[in-house]
Amino acid sequence: MTKTIEIRNPRTGKFDYVIIPPPPKLLSQQCHRLRRGQIAWEEIGIAGRIEALKQWKQAILAERQNITDALVNDTGRLSISNLEIDSLLNSIDRWCNLAPQLLQTTAKNTSIPFISLQQAAVPYTLVGVISPWNFPLLLSTIDTIPALLAGCAVIVKPSEITPRFVAPLMTATNTVPLLRDVLNFVEGAGEIGANLIEEVDLICFTGSVETGRIVAESAAKNFIPAFLELGGKDPAIVLESADLDLATSAILWGSVVNSGQSCLSIERIYVAESIFEEFYHRLITKAHHLQLAYPTVESGEIGPIMSEHQAAIINEHLQDAINKGAIIHCGGKVEEIGGGWWCRPTVITNVNHTMKIMTEETFGPIMPIMPFSSIEEAINLANDSMYGLSAAIFSESMELALEIGMQIDVGAISVNDAGLTSMMQEGEKNAFKFSGLGGSRMGPEGLKRFLRKKAFLIKTNTNKDPWWFNEE
Ligand code: NAD
Repeated sequence: MTKTIEIRNPRTGKFDYVIIPPPPKLLSQQCHRLRRGQIAWEEIGIAGRIEALKQWKQAILAERQNITDALVNDTGRLSISNLEIDSLLNSIDRWCNLAPQLLQTTAKNTSIPFISLQQAAVPYTLVGVISPWNFPLLLSTIDTIPALLAGCAVIVKPSEITPRFVAPLMTATNTVPLLRDVLNFVEGAGEIGANLIEEVDLICFTGSVETGRIVAESAAKNFIPAFLELGGKDPAIVLESADLDLATSAILWGSVVNSGQSCLSIERIYVAESIFEEFYHRLITKAHHLQLAYPTVESGEIGPIMSEHQAAIINEHLQDAINKGAIIHCGGKVEEIGGGWWCRPTVITNVNHTMKIMTEETFGPIMPIMPFSSIEEAINLANDSMYGLSAAIFSESMELALEIGMQIDVGAISVNDAGLTSMMQEGEKNAFKFSGLGGSRMGPEGLKRFLRKKAFLIKTNTNKDPWWFNEE
């Protein structure tokens, strides 16, 4: 018998929604249905698929209020919920514009004059998407849209912590006949995620390193590609020449937006010792301006900590740092207000790499700052991490910023800004170290990942090939 899962509202702490995960047999039937639908989906070609996605966009717009309400109830935040929906709509437009060119096939000459090469591409039949709770809609659709345009069918399992958007999004999806045959969302926890991997031909997973490892192992057993987008502990390096007003504003946003619950949050700040004092005083002043989004969702910038488990981790990291001598200048704890968990922007100094706050993913609005005395030291500190997602560098000299950036083991660097990969998806990037595996989610590769390449090697003359047997 399938167990129901109760869903908590992070603002009130009340469990006020339930989901019922499908039994394995039903999940399997759904996947077979999607596989059947994929045949027609591939056959209609890119123009037909674009038309279906444009209809989906209109249907999402019609359901916008219900999707927003669902996201607000699951995440406790409004402006980012709107941003998630806008980002989905923009992503549909962007990929619809790019896809025709990316799917074009070309014939080429080869190194052998009488053999020509024609490249074709075949979509994976069924793609699985497993997503986390911190951007429920965005991260459930970011890979889904290019996969659909590539010609795949897609099954998505969003996080069991934030599943409410599924019902209104499916209402929108079901109004588009062709799309509803190739796109489905399935509700459930890790067990359903594990079952899903057994059903699909390729898996896109966004989540923790711990689960990512399990997903990678299952995918390897089934010989299917796994694209893993995992955790981060992004460093910011602030050089002596940096514009301090700009650096403190960018880092405050990069650390604290979404209450720090982003894989690419700035979680470690390294500042040249000559400007260290001034930097952290300015950061504290700016941090004091931010308010909790309480009692209403529009009251301030800082929403609740969405997962109870995460609230406990933030407190554990803070306590560990305090026990080891860290100085808290503002914020400093996760507190219960009105049934939810909240944390004010927290600036911390006197920190070092023996502390969890500098080495493990905290996922809270926490800004621990360390001084450095040489660029080499800053690079070593930035690289002293199991993670390698992204980073930020603040410097007057672009040349120096790029030189340092090349020595930091991460896939994306924001220069004189923070978290820019959340704002634009053009730049191809790979996750380094334990932050992920597989081709770039961003840029043209984001769609090409869903195609298996096929090479037609065509003999263009009627002569015998020079390497054939001499039969005379
Ligand atoms: P999580 O790993 O706990 O869960 C992610 C998803 O995996 C959920 O849908 C969950 O139900 C599912 N799952 C759990 N066990 C599974 C299993 N055995 N097989 C298959 N699926 C399983 O992560 P989370 O707590 O939801 O998300 C937070 C993490 O996600 C953080 O580490 C964060 O950095 C990371 N993240 C990374 C990116 C990125 O792009 N790199 C973006 C957002 C979040």
